[in-house]
Amino acid sequence: MALIVHKYGGTSMGSTERIRNVAKRVAKWARAGHRMVVVPSAMSGETNRLLGLAKELSPAATTPELQRELDMIASTGEQVSVGLLAIALQAEGMPAVSYTGWQVPIATDSAYTKARIQSIDDQRVRADLTAGKVVIITGFQGIDEHGNITTLGRGGSDTSAVAVAAALKADECLIYTDVDGVYTTDPRIVPEARRLHTISFEEMLEMASLGSKVLQIRSVEFAGKYRVPMRVLSSFTPWDIDIAEEARSGTLITFEEDEKMEQAVVSGIAFNRDEAKISLLGVPDRPGIAFSILGPVAEANIDVDVIIQNVSHDGRTDFSFTVHRNDYQRTVDLLKNAVVPATGAAQVTGDTKICKVSIVGIGMRSHVGVASRMFKALSDEGINIQMITTSEIKTSVVIDEKYMELAVRALHKAFDLDQGAAA
Ligand code: ASP
Ligand code: MG
Repeated sequence: MALIVHKYGGTSMGSTERIRNVAKRVAKWARAGHRMVVVPSAMSGETNRLLGLAKELSPAATTPELQRELDMIASTGEQVSVGLLAIALQAEGMPAVSYTGWQVPIATDSAYTKARIQSIDDQRVRADLTAGKVVIITGFQGIDEHGNITTLGRGGSDTSAVAVAAALKADECLIYTDVDGVYTTDPRIVPEARRLHTISFEEMLEMASLGSKVLQIRSVEFAGKYRVPMRVLSSFTPWDIDIAEEARSGTLITFEEDEKMEQAVVSGIAFNRDEAKISLLGVPDRPGIAFSILGPVAEANIDVDVIIQNVSHDGRTDFSFTVHRNDYQRTVDLLKNAVVPATGAAQVTGDTKICKVSIVGIGMRSHVGVASRMFKALSDEGINIQMITTSEIKTSVVIDEKYMELAVRALHKAFDLDQGAAA
């Protein structure tokens, strides 16, 4: 008998009929002898609808006072879900009880709209489990030390589920979603993409932060920190599918040393179109220059990703970096108004039509020539690389946005990730 956490996304909870299916599936697991905790999202579209109402009254929620109210509103979507699911389970003859974040309680910090979970009290939940009930807990929300309702950021139910699984030392956290696992890349771009049976936490973390949208990044961080075994699987299989088959389906996110990993050098290709490139040309090349450029950027709370500084000529150099596209204009203005006068740089230029394409794999640690294989594949397609950045288990390039799909396809092939290819 295991303690299992199920997480269901908005699509799986999208109608009363779908909620009934979730209830039947959960009841099947409970009847097989497992202690069950379920963490659902709001019904699909509901969080957007709720936040849309707030936006009608106040277009930009810029103050903490307004953000507090956004969390108050957005958290209700999940409250409806848990209540409906508890009713559906009871209708199946399965004892069930629902809780909001503050009832558990799930304690968070006070960063409204992007709060972090600090601790979870497991007493109430354990008592219910012992009494034979399925416990249903709202995703996405918690409560701060002053009793204010907080939310964890969009997609935050994944993190709630993993955090609950960590607090209860669950045997596995199953994330039911509208895809049937983690793929080598987005199958909408590369139809030959393959589902991975396993992926390491580290790789999943890179994939999530580099643009793969399957899981909220924070949920993977949490799973890694507390070593929660986590599986991504489809909620669209028939609810009465054989439970042993279901338990093996999808993609298991695992620890490198625990499992025989699929022996590919590169496990996946990630991409993201959310960034923009900014260059400062003719910067005097002297100590402290990187700080005098990026210091003000950091102070303005703008995240910087890829950074490149070139060789200098005649004491001047070019300095380029990427930011989120939403921060592009703000960053350019900041450089023009503050950094150029302070540093004596010659010019600010930029490009919003770029994308970042990355190869990810723990196999890169033990293999040489992986990056050059990537560069060759791109050069064979005539794709110019504008920036490069690497870490132990990934190499990313910044290229013109219009070549993104071509690059992803070429790399998928070059690293033998296509379906049917030898791994
Ligand atoms: N309902 C929230 C959202 O739409 C949280 C989640 O679905 O994970 O972002
Ligand atoms: Mg999600």
